[in-house]
Amino acid sequence: MKEQLRLLQQLQDIDTQTKEIRKTIEQVPAQLAPAKQDLEKLAGMLTIERQQLADTEAWRAEQEDIVNREEEALKNAKAKLQEAKNARDFGAASREIDNKKRSIHDREQEILKVYEALEIGRAKLASHEEDVAKLRAHVESEEAKFADTLKELEEQAKAVTAGRADVEAGIDKSLLKRYNTVMQRRGTAVVEVRDGVCQGCHMSLAPQLAIQVARGESIQSCRQCNRLLFVPEDPAEESQAS
Ligand SMILES: [Zn+2]
Repeated sequence: MKEQLRLLQQLQDIDTQTKEIRKTIEQVPAQLAPAKQDLEKLAGMLTIERQQLADTEAWRAEQEDIVNREEEALKNAKAKLQEAKNARDFGAASREIDNKKRSIHDREQEILKVYEALEIGRAKLASHEEDVAKLRAHVESEEAKFADTLKELEEQAKAVTAGRADVEAGIDKSLLKRYNTVMQRRGTAVVEVRDGVCQGCHMSLAPQLAIQVARGESIQSCRQCNRLLFVPEDPAEESQAS
């Protein structure tokens, strides 16, 4: 029984360590998640910014086309003025010239403002692009680091579980089944009894059961939590078992 108990504890050590390593492995991607979310958000904002600039640029080009057409119309109006045969034609042509001039002037003022806005917008975009590039580089270097960490952890897990099959093979089948069932449900399967109290669920054992556990002739289960119970033999062991 002592040998069985020793193997069970060994198995539990392996399984507990493996579980801890697995948990750490699962947490690794989560550590990068906030930075990745930031990057995604900023990259999305950049796309919008670029689109807005392109829209403004298109608007500016459109306005310049209109100005060109108006300049053309102005030229025609001036020609008409030259060819005016009477005061009525003259008046109409000169009104048209005034209107075109005003319209061209106003539109050119607008275009000038848009030029300024575009310049500011481009400078902002460039600085935001730089920020995003920096963040991306940071995330990528972190990812590389985490990949190394994951590799190390996987290797640790492999090393820890290397001897598991041998340990398992040495354990009595029915005992192994009890171990697996409790382990799955409780996270620990083999626990110490201290002062008649199960250290798994912290309930007192019935006196008869406590005596049986102390004798160590059979492996008993806690009536409350079903964990497999043992009483450590010497005090040195007591501190490391739980
Ligand atoms: Zn218990």
